Amino acid sequence: MTRAIISFDTELSAGLHQRGASARANFDSSILGRCRDGDFGIHFQMDMLERRGLTGVYFVDPMPALVHGPAIVRDIVAPIVARGHEVQLHIHTEWLEFARLNPVGRLTGRNIGDFPLAAQKKLIGLACDMLVRAGAPEPTAFRAGNFGANDDTLRALAALGLRYDSSFNAAYVGHGCDIALDSRNIGMRVHHGVCEVPVSGLMDRSDSFRPAQLCAMSEEEMRDALDHAAASGAHQFSAFSHSFELLSRDRQVPNRLAIARMEALCRAVANDPRVTSGGFADLPEPPARAGPIRLPDPRPLRTLRRTAEQAAGHLAHEVRYVRSLAYVTANTSRWGKIAGGILLAVA
Ligand SMILES: [Zn+2]
Repeated sequence: MTRAIISFDTELSAGLHQRGASARANFDSSILGRCRDGDFGIHFQMDMLERRGLTGVYFVDPMPALVHGPAIVRDIVAPIVARGHEVQLHIHTEWLEFARLNPVGRLTGRNIGDFPLAAQKKLIGLACDMLVRAGAPEPTAFRAGNFGANDDTLRALAALGLRYDSSFNAAYVGHGCDIALDSRNIGMRVHHGVCEVPVSGLMDRSDSFRPAQLCAMSEEEMRDALDHAAASGAHQFSAFSHSFELLSRDRQVPNRLAIARMEALCRAVANDPRVTSGGFADLPEPPARAGPIRLPDPRPLRTLRRTAEQAAGHLAHEVRYVRSLAYVTANTSRWGKIAGGILLAVA
């Protein structure tokens, strides 16, 4: 059986904090996915999963506790645990810059892989404690923010007793992800004492990996990637998203395309008898001599269909934006009316 792990990196935005957003505003946007049409964050995602009887994994970043105090992490963890989904450990070291007390002295860095091994061990250990103090069960799996892990990260995880890492994403190799594994193999395997569970994906061109991320893959690509994993006898299929990924990029409205893709993924996982849903807590380790799982080959027409679908999605969003701007403009002055009228006519 192939275990389908649907995970969500669940995090406040260090960027929003830097631009002056309050902790509450950051929480509302980044965790609840709140916009003028409603909430499309973790609660909405859990509703979607539960309608299909699926269990999700939430990689929660506890680092904002260093800036805002522990209550905000408790507010993230509590509903996930209460609804029976899995909480695992995520880390965004960007928050150290804003911390009242930096646990690694003057060291800062965008990625956990930017730090020496001893500091990585200290930071991951501390993050683990903060997550457990916020009400999560002892985590068994880890994912680095920005997939910015290296081999020392895995050594640190092994020393701390975490069994699984899910920071290997071939799309980030050379862009922050420095784990020395073969990116053409998406099978689970042990590396530096930790079981690596790579992000799944497919080749969308002969030299280009497309990760199984909600906003990166079409329904068709996601179905093909899942089918390939099950047909290859892979132990896992790992698709990921974010707590805020069902919102548009400017977070003003829901992203209907991403919601449709998530619905399609949930349906595909629920309906495939070769696939089970779940997380890491009871994930069996792969047999010692498991063969590699090769990436699905590119299919140019499939890539073209996704490119067209995304272009249409962006266009629809832009049109909505221009229309709302036009309505506002048309209600301001006489010249506004004329300008707004022209915009409405065009959009
Ligand atoms: Zn993240």
